[in-house]
Amino acid sequence: MAEPVYKRVLLKVSGEALAGDQGHGLDFNMISQLCDALQDSLALGVQIGIVVGGGNFWRGAKNVQIERSRSDHIGMLATVMNCLAVADVCEQKNIPVRVQTAIAIPTVADSYTYRSADENLKQGRVVIFGAGTGSPYFSTDTGAVLKAVELHADLILLAKNIDGVYSADPVKYPNATRYDKISYSETLEKRLGVMDLTATSLAMENHIPIRVFAVKDPENITRILKGESIGTLVSEN
Ligand code: UDP
Repeated sequence: MAEPVYKRVLLKVSGEALAGDQGHGLDFNMISQLCDALQDSLALGVQIGIVVGGGNFWRGAKNVQIERSRSDHIGMLATVMNCLAVADVCEQKNIPVRVQTAIAIPTVADSYTYRSADENLKQGRVVIFGAGTGSPYFSTDTGAVLKAVELHADLILLAKNIDGVYSADPVKYPNATRYDKISYSETLEKRLGVMDLTATSLAMENHIPIRVFAVKDPENITRILKGESIGTLVSEN
């Protein structure tokens, strides 16, 4: 088996990705494939944490009928629902896993602490992080970069419904081209929408590379861990 080129990585999976083709709720076929990829990653000897989004259930800013903070709380709880589903499928496959949430829900999951997350990762458990940053007005992308920075991950794996970063939306513009590599600042200047401004700035400030790839083929995860240049690498110039 090829040696992995990373020791510890942070995978960000959006809620939309977990919904598969149905676009909402949870696609357990998709989640099962994702968990298989997690198992393969652990088998390679790579420590892997996951930040899970919640957009398949709720997006705070879109639900304007209620106070934004409360709406964002609902969004963060939606991410926890997704974490529990992924963790359960992991357990069904005997993959060692822990869920840690940035909002304390002690009867449901462990609360996030750096020390415990670090230790669980070292012990070869997948750690699934719920509730993003724990604060409204942020995104799970920012939560993912925060966790990656705090836990000294070598790489952020940004699983998307698209297979990389394009010069324009390839659905609207068929001539759009995919970048193999692009800098953080270029994604911001060209408004390529890889991650939100806060998340991208945090990644840029802390020099953490991001590989954007298609979640449709979760085996991409192990290919990337073995050093294949799949999708787009967002990093320094
Ligand atoms: N959210 C939040 N703070 C965070 C992370 C998420 O308030 O640190 C809320 C916010 O309402 C967001 C929702 O949770 O719309 C779901 O997260 P996100 O949109 O990032 O999920 P994704 O698009 O990755 O599925």
